[in-house]
Amino acid sequence: MIAILGVSKFLNQMKFILTIFTGCFIFSSTFSQEQTSTQKMDFEKYDPVSTLVVPEHVISHSKFPFIDVHNHQWDMANKDLAPLIRDMDILNMKIMVNLSGGSGNNLEQGTKHVKATYPNRFIIFANIEFKGIGETGWTEKTVKQLEADVKNGANGLKIFKSLGFNVKDNEGKRVAVDDKRLDPIWQKCGELKIPILIHTADPKPFWDATDEHNERWMEIVTHPGRKRGADNPVPWEKLIEEQHAIFSKHPNTTFIAAHFGWYPNDLDKLGKLLDQLPNVVVEFGAVIAELGRQPIMAKQFFTKYQDRILFGKDSWVPEEYKTYFRVLETADEYFPYHKKYHAFWRMYGLGLPDDILKKVYYKNALRIIPNIDKALFPL
Ligand SMILES: [Zn+2]
Repeated sequence: MIAILGVSKFLNQMKFILTIFTGCFIFSSTFSQEQTSTQKMDFEKYDPVSTLVVPEHVISHSKFPFIDVHNHQWDMANKDLAPLIRDMDILNMKIMVNLSGGSGNNLEQGTKHVKATYPNRFIIFANIEFKGIGETGWTEKTVKQLEADVKNGANGLKIFKSLGFNVKDNEGKRVAVDDKRLDPIWQKCGELKIPILIHTADPKPFWDATDEHNERWMEIVTHPGRKRGADNPVPWEKLIEEQHAIFSKHPNTTFIAAHFGWYPNDLDKLGKLLDQLPNVVVEFGAVIAELGRQPIMAKQFFTKYQDRILFGKDSWVPEEYKTYFRVLETADEYFPYHKKYHAFWRMYGLGLPDDILKKVYYKNALRIIPNIDKALFPL
C-alpha cells in the first residue's frame, strides 16, 4: 500500500514537473516568436496608431489668406492655370511665388501668360544661367539679362542649390556661393529692389555617416543620391559660410534664406544670424517638422523674429499644406508629419496669435516682394 502510494505520488510529481516543463516550453516558444517578430520589424514599417486622445484640428484652409514664397511650377507659359487656381483657393493661398521662372524668352512668355489669365495671383522669380561663367563679359551679360527679366515682369531672383554644389566655371572649377564674379548680380538685385531667395547646401546629416545615429538615415536610404561624403563638394559648414558671406557683403540686398537657412534645428543660432544680418529673412519650406518638434522654442523664435519669417512650402502637394497650418495655428499635440523620412517623430502646434500669423502668412512677404496686389489681403 505504502509502495503503491509511493508510486502514485511519484507519478503525480512527474506529471507536475512535465506540466511545468511543457508550460515553460510553450511560454518560451511564444516569447521567442514575439521577440523574433519584434526584432525583424523594419523601422520603415513600424507605424503605431497613437492611442492618445487629445483635441484635434485638421485645417485645410488657412485662417488668413497667405502667400507661398517657395513654389515651383514649370511650363508657366503654356499650362492651363485654372486647376492651379482652384487648388490655391481651397487652401486660401492668394499668391503663389513661382521660383522657377527661368530667364529671357522663357520668363517673358510665362509672365505674359499670367498677365493674360490671372494677373494678380502669381509672382515669378527669375533664374540665372550660369553656363559660361568665367568667360569675358559673362557677368555684364548676366546682369543685363536680369535687368531685362525684371522689366519683363520678374519680381525676384531664385538661386538654386546647384550654386555651390555643381556649378562650374569655364575652367571646370567649382563656383563658390561667394564667388566674386557674382557680386554684381547680388548688387543689382539691391538696386532693383528685388529679393533673392537662395537655397544653399542641404540638411547637415547628409554629410554625416549613414548609421543608427543619423536623424536622416531613412531619407538617405530611400534617396541615396542625397548622400554626400564629408568633403563633397566641400564640408557643409563651408557652404553655409559662403552663403553668409554674401549676406554680409551685400547689406542693401534682401535675401530670403530658404529652408530656415538649414538651421531650423538650431533656432538660437539662426536668431543670432538674423541679429547680425538685418537684410536677411527666412522661409520654412520643407522644415515644418523641425518646428513642430520644438513648439516652445519655435514659438519664442516666431515671437521674437515675427517680422523676419515668410511662409514657404517648396514641393507642390496641396494636401500637405494642412500640416503647415496645423503647426502654425493650433495647439494640437502629438500629430503626425506627412513624410516619415523627414520626421519619424510626431509634432505639436505652436498656436501662434493672429498678429503673428498675419505677418507670417502675408504681411512680411508684402513688404519684401514687390508688385503683389495688397487688396487681396486684410489690413
Ligand atoms: Zn525649392
